[in-house]
Amino acid sequence: MKAHAFSFERPLDVAGASRLLAEAKGEGRVLAGGQTLGPMLNMRLAMPKLIVDIGNIAELKSINHFSDRIVVGACVNHATLEDWIDLTPLGRLLSHAGGSIAYRAIRNRGTIGGSLCHADPAADWVTTMSLLQASLLTASTKGKRRLVMSDFMLGTYSTALNSDEMLVAIDIPKISSEARWGYYRVCRKVGEFPEALGAVLLDAPRSVARVIAGGMNGKPANLTSISEFVAATGKTPELGQIESEIGQIEPEFDAIDLRHHAVAVRRAIQMALL
Ligand SMILES: Cc1cc2nc3c(=O)[nH]c(=O)nc-3n(C[C@H](O)[C@H](O)[C@H](O)COP(=O)(O)OP(=O)(O)OC[C@H]3O[C@@H](n4cnc5c(N)ncnc54)[C@H](O)[C@@H]3O)c2cc1C
Repeated sequence: MKAHAFSFERPLDVAGASRLLAEAKGEGRVLAGGQTLGPMLNMRLAMPKLIVDIGNIAELKSINHFSDRIVVGACVNHATLEDWIDLTPLGRLLSHAGGSIAYRAIRNRGTIGGSLCHADPAADWVTTMSLLQASLLTASTKGKRRLVMSDFMLGTYSTALNSDEMLVAIDIPKISSEARWGYYRVCRKVGEFPEALGAVLLDAPRSVARVIAGGMNGKPANLTSISEFVAATGKTPELGQIESEIGQIEPEFDAIDLRHHAVAVRRAIQMALL
């Protein structure tokens, strides 16, 4: 099947892209790395009248460092973050998560912003940015917005972005140099989306103990009672304990789903506690 006919624009700045999206009146679609949108166009799952290719907008490809956070442009690709030589705990986590995605050819094209806007629950950045409680910075002709990750992703393939709005950058709070993290994917085949994801951040100087289950039926889940257990005991909970909390959040999970998710979470906790 071939893509439906569409017009194509490649603006050089965010203002130009926002104007094009506003003029398209809901019939425009942003193109970043095209790793998801390309197949969707070919299968006619998406039939926009206008494609706005944001791949030539320089400001969307920058990574800016501040004392308490880093701001990653929406068009920074997975490979750039994978190759990033930053030996802080945050730098290592971003490199590990970026390098876990698909295989190198996809990581060379796919972008962090495209991944977050597509909002696949199994996407690595969706889980990682939930773990880090990142904020997403958006723009449209109506102005700019800042949304925390838990408000940005509404559910499977669903975000709070309006049709005339684009993601510009991801604002990631820094973690301390003593922070420990764990990240584990249950994945049948290298290069594919995981069945389940576990992500853990233990940052005692900042009083953070967070355990996230990704690859759920919607948004990543913050496992609060497991987090409290790990913070209080410094121990790895049993699989049954993790399955119990995940089962309350996802009552439709069968025994295999529950086990996949509990194993991912448990191994991420073990990694963080090593
Ligand atoms: C074979 C294969 C395996 C994969 N495996 C994994 C995996 O293991 N883990 C994983 O996390 N991902 C995986 N992916 C997804 C991939 O890594 C990309 O992240 C993903 O395809 C989207 O990024 P993109 O830049 O290509 O976005 P695009 O395909 O260009 O766009 C995706 C969607 O987001 C919208 N969009 C993009 N950027 C913006 C923006 N700045 N503002 C507003 N809307 C925007 C587009 O309109 C579109 O709806 C895989 C993909 C493939 C093809």
